[in-house]
Amino acid sequence: MTTYSAPLRDMRFLYHELYDGAELTGLPGYEEATPDLVDAVLEEAAKFCENELLPLNRIGDEEGCTYENGVVRTPPGFKAAYEAYTEAGWPALSVDPEYGGQGMPKTLDFLIEEMVCATNLAFGTYPGLTVGAFNAIKAHGSDDLKQTYLPNMVAGKWSGTMCLTEPQCGTDLGMVRTRAVPQDDGSFKITGTKIFITAGEHDMTENIIHLVLAKLPDAPPGIKGISLFLVPKFMVKEDGSLGARNGVMCGSIEEKMGIHGSSTCVMNFDDATGWLVGVPHKGMRAMFTMMNAARMGVACQGIGLGEATYQMAATYAKERLQGRSVAGPKHPDKPADPLIVHPDIRRMLLTMRAYTEGNRALALWITRALDYVSKHPDPAVRADHEDLAALLTPIAKAFFTDCGFEVANLGVQIHGGMGFIRETGVEQYVRDARIAQIYEGANGVQALDLVGRKLPMNMGRPLRFFFHPVSEYIEAKSSDPALMEFIMPLAKSFGRLQQATGWIAQEGMKDPEQAAAAASDYLRLFGLVALAYVWTRMAEVALANMDGGEREFYAAKVATARFFMKRLLPQSSALFAALMSGADTLMDFEEAAF
Ligand SMILES: Cc1cc2nc3c(=O)[nH]c(=O)nc-3n(C[C@H](O)[C@H](O)[C@H](O)COP(=O)(O)OP(=O)(O)OC[C@H]3O[C@@H](n4cnc5c(N)ncnc54)[C@H](O)[C@@H]3O)c2cc1C
Repeated sequence: MTTYSAPLRDMRFLYHELYDGAELTGLPGYEEATPDLVDAVLEEAAKFCENELLPLNRIGDEEGCTYENGVVRTPPGFKAAYEAYTEAGWPALSVDPEYGGQGMPKTLDFLIEEMVCATNLAFGTYPGLTVGAFNAIKAHGSDDLKQTYLPNMVAGKWSGTMCLTEPQCGTDLGMVRTRAVPQDDGSFKITGTKIFITAGEHDMTENIIHLVLAKLPDAPPGIKGISLFLVPKFMVKEDGSLGARNGVMCGSIEEKMGIHGSSTCVMNFDDATGWLVGVPHKGMRAMFTMMNAARMGVACQGIGLGEATYQMAATYAKERLQGRSVAGPKHPDKPADPLIVHPDIRRMLLTMRAYTEGNRALALWITRALDYVSKHPDPAVRADHEDLAALLTPIAKAFFTDCGFEVANLGVQIHGGMGFIRETGVEQYVRDARIAQIYEGANGVQALDLVGRKLPMNMGRPLRFFFHPVSEYIEAKSSDPALMEFIMPLAKSFGRLQQATGWIAQEGMKDPEQAAAAASDYLRLFGLVALAYVWTRMAEVALANMDGGEREFYAAKVATARFFMKRLLPQSSALFAALMSGADTLMDFEEAAF
């Protein structure tokens, strides 16, 4: 049976203890986000997700969305849950009060998003895409567009989409064919077909605001000739009320492996009226605002599904009686011992836990940086944090979602045959987790972004905001005997990461294929080292608090940190060896032999 209880203790540990929550409260605009309020909001969100969204998860998977004559219906219960979600003000939580939001930190919002992903990933895609569209319009739209569209999007009355993909182009958006023709009144007529559009059509909101990549008649070829347009499903009149239907229709929805409750639509734009967002031909820049936030949203999906599957697997492993402990019966009064006595089951459970809790901790480092970017008064501090977030976002997107899938898969394994049977519900998590590795830029493309854009960016400036704190931390703690078992492996793997970074910079300059061939292994190596850093810091905080009550919680943290260092971090040497072996084994293979 699917069970989930939001990991509130861990969330509070990260928010208040690992990172100092009071620092966020000190930023202008976040004064109201006091520790008590943060905890109360987390508790309310947990109740909503556990009681409203979780019961719909299975229904969404089984019933899916339906399509008839351009109309898409979401699974039973989704519309009512969405109404409750917006009435409670969840979409507006971290939005600027200027547009009707509550102005809470993004870090808090991220934790709530994790609960949504854990309890009903498909449902979460509807508000998730709206946040992305909101960000792009807010950053690049005209005042008129902002006033007309943003308040209703914040209120959840209108939703948003992101229309990039076309049949001939997914990763390579330079091949976009959708056209935008300027009109005398300053608007544009948009014509073309977009595919795989999440929440492109549905029955939850009055209006849907599409952000569409298209080419102007005078567009330069390729990626430098793309512009971004806002195209509403219903036109908006001067007084803000809804007018005629615009020329955009859903042609069909996809049957797919997972997230059945999320509508994935073919969208046909036929002389649809739209407005330019940002500058002509600079649409990719505007879209990146949306994509970076969306990438953290997808990264969050990996953590949420990881947590949900871990909880199910841990419960099952304690209940299911099978075999005897190899060290002799642990429960002689029972016909067999529970699965949890077996070392291999423990290996899987601890792997699930170490990735999920580690990734959550790393994610909060990034969301805090984003909070500094949005609120810190000093532009230099904002720029530093922006660089850190830019560096770590592709790592979070790819590493967290790879872990999410790996963890969900281990969850099935722990359930044995019952995991493969639909009744337990755990197989849904594997199917749902798979898409996160593909959309918002497939994980291989995130790796290319890391080595091709983020490493060389501003002469390696973003790297400093990771390398400096980690090396300073290692130096500061290297003589602390209590931390030695964590610091030593951290230092060793960090050394490998530095060496690999230097190698990629040098070899990649001479031959870009070397950098591209190393990219995925490098990203995973980076993710593991970043986790080693946050796990060491978590162990440090836990050790310091071990004798002050809640011993069980802190002891489990230290033990999980120890497991990570000894059992998962050693992958870093294999990754290092693989990536340093160069591109030859990949590129010398004859194409005809594939
Ligand atoms: C359920 C679902 C929801 C989606 N939602 C949206 C949405 O809301 N809006 C939207 O616009 N799109 C959406 N997409 C599309 C999604 O973003 C794309 O599928 C994704 O970006 C990959 O593009 P593609 O499918 O065309 O694969 P391709 O670009 O054909 O790539 C195939 C494989 O090749 C790899 N690859 C491609 N180019 C390179 C390269 N240069 N170097 C190395 N490897 C490369 C990729 O990593 C991938 O593994 C969605 C897709 C799905 C399935």
